[in-house]
Amino acid sequence: MTQIEAARTGMITPAIRRVAEKEGREPEEVRKALAAGHLVIPSNVHHLAAQYGGSDGGKLDPIGIGRLLRTKVNANLGTSPDASCKDEELIKMNLSIRYGADAVMDLSTGGSLDEIRTYLIANAPVPLGTVPIYEMTQHKPVEELTCEDMLATIEKQARQGVDFFTIHAGLLREHLPLAEARLGGIVSRGGSLLAKWMTHHNRQNPMYEIFDDLCAIMREFDVAFSLGDGLRPGCLADATDKAQLAELHVLGELVLKAREQGCQVIVEGPGHIPFDQIEENMRLEAQLCDGAPFYVLGPIVTDVAPGYDHITSAIGATAAATYGASFLCYVTPAEHLALPGPVDVREGVIAHRIAAHAGDVARGLPGARDWDDRMSRARTRFDWRTQLKIAMDSERAREIRKASSPDDDFCSMCGKDWCAVRRSKEVFQETEPKPESTEDTSEATESKAVTPQPSPTGD
Ligand code: SF4
Repeated sequence: MTQIEAARTGMITPAIRRVAEKEGREPEEVRKALAAGHLVIPSNVHHLAAQYGGSDGGKLDPIGIGRLLRTKVNANLGTSPDASCKDEELIKMNLSIRYGADAVMDLSTGGSLDEIRTYLIANAPVPLGTVPIYEMTQHKPVEELTCEDMLATIEKQARQGVDFFTIHAGLLREHLPLAEARLGGIVSRGGSLLAKWMTHHNRQNPMYEIFDDLCAIMREFDVAFSLGDGLRPGCLADATDKAQLAELHVLGELVLKAREQGCQVIVEGPGHIPFDQIEENMRLEAQLCDGAPFYVLGPIVTDVAPGYDHITSAIGATAAATYGASFLCYVTPAEHLALPGPVDVREGVIAHRIAAHAGDVARGLPGARDWDDRMSRARTRFDWRTQLKIAMDSERAREIRKASSPDDDFCSMCGKDWCAVRRSKEVFQETEPKPESTEDTSEATESKAVTPQPSPTGD
């Protein structure tokens, strides 16, 4: 039984219990959301740790993705034909997890893909996803692929322990004229490969046609679908256009079909979207895809800032997390320019952890703001130890503070005589004495109901 099938029977699996424990939720709440398809626990039986129900000695500590829970962040990793080293990818994976990534995707296209993938899965305590069509086309032109080739690759990767697959089954042949009219065309790698296959064979998308066979494989290993948006807009001019929406309607149909066959499903979303269209995009996905968890790439809110696309993306991701997304795919400063290196990975993860948390606060997720309030109390008391310890990126905060010859009662931003916090304390202490601080800074006192990940890089 897959996690969703177990949840539908009323069973609380060890993975459900673990997710509930990590998020400060009741197991029954998690089970209900999972049974309804509004939450997923991507957990291949060959990757899930034995204590949570896995069969193969894997390392996965399961996470839940859905609006009931804290917004999650994915970091994309992977080699390219120009840069491939499995140890470098492991370094990037560990770094991304250290800075707060909840999941990773191996998008490798260079080197021995099996070797890289199995190496990362063996070392990953978080869910790992792939886009199987990348491997299918590594040694064969896409036009030569058969449906049997596609199923064989997907089954092999499922056996290896991949937890979620991006499958671009919603991009249909009849959508291609809509994409032709665009400024940016098709910017999804998987989408463009399948478009080429359809044009060459003058046939329907093979992933759409073999969808039932895919479901059988996904169900056997409990791999979650991440239904890819092959027509995601790659520039603001194409946002929310007919091509994007036509594909989204098909994705909605596939969500129901996959669920009927006992599979867990996430839906992928845009892309490049102007800020004012993000709320509507989130509403449409929830409506057309029956509340399936929405996994967005950004959205990037302006096309003109290469080198800073972790920021353009985090702005859009904050709105997306506020209005409906459950899972944010990070974008790094290297987006549109180069393969991300370790420094880019850190910047991308932190930017999207900020977006995820800001979204959780804005949507009123119970307990989300406790982390902020704790930081604010520490600031008003000049409690630097707590401030640095619970900062989103504790290392960065420490480095900056240390470089400024710090004083306990102010900082170099304003200096002693201009420090408003000092003055505010003088004013209010005269009129309303405050009790001594009782804050305990130990990790053990973290509120269980709070969504926070207090400082991934903290002590
Ligand atoms: S010096 Fe300025 S920035 Fe620093 S703690 Fe005081 S008010 Fe805040």
